[in-house]
Amino acid sequence: MSISAKTRKSLWAKSGNRCAICRLELVQDVVESNNLILGEECHIISSKSNGPRGDNKLHCYDYDDYENLLLLCANDHKRVDTLVETYTVEKLIKLKKTHSQWVKTTLSLDPIAFTNDEFKTISLKRIKTGKEIINVIDVVHTFSFENDELIEKEEIELIPPFFDLLKEYVDILDMMSFKQIAHLSLEINSTINTIEEKGFKVFGLRRSAKILNSKKEDMGIWDKATIVIVRNDNPGIVGEHLIMKTPKSFKLKV
Ligand SMILES: [Zn+2]
Repeated sequence: MSISAKTRKSLWAKSGNRCAICRLELVQDVVESNNLILGEECHIISSKSNGPRGDNKLHCYDYDDYENLLLLCANDHKRVDTLVETYTVEKLIKLKKTHSQWVKTTLSLDPIAFTNDEFKTISLKRIKTGKEIINVIDVVHTFSFENDELIEKEEIELIPPFFDLLKEYVDILDMMSFKQIAHLSLEINSTINTIEEKGFKVFGLRRSAKILNSKKEDMGIWDKATIVIVRNDNPGIVGEHLIMKTPKSFKLKV
């Protein structure tokens, strides 16, 4: 059996034509001269017993039923089918549910949600190195740093000072030499390691967003950096991404 036209339609609609992990907009056929990426209809449980998650019991009637399918971009499809220990059946079902809920609440209310700053949910990528952090914060106009509630003194002495350090560098990165940036990158590497040892993960996102001032006047498109540090058990963590509500406030650099 193959995926029926009806199932396919339902899968694409309920996914908002977006990858369930990175939320990139996807297309069904190759369209000339645009940047859209081809979507892939993936099986949560492979119909082959030696395929990805193929040793699990099927939770619906057929492998090609909507319940066993997930819309992903090629990159995430590959990751999900390679890292089967991370992307278990339970995890994928949960991820699919979260995504369709997000489509319902965000995209249906605001069809242009992804092109401005009004969308309510963002997906941040896991950050493991200083270089990755620097790429996110390098000469942005505005930034937002957030963390899960800190309990121990050690955590308070680690995470807020780390944000203070980043805040300082946002402004001067473009004036630093390559050597200075390399040293900073090393320093951040070791701080990230310490943060991870304490049971946290670092996520970041750099994007262009329309900025409104307090009078709701359009200030144009600005580059915005978001860095978030959460505990390993934060429910927003999906594989190498963190799904979270858009931070309400952020600090303007000027
Ligand atoms: Zn993707």
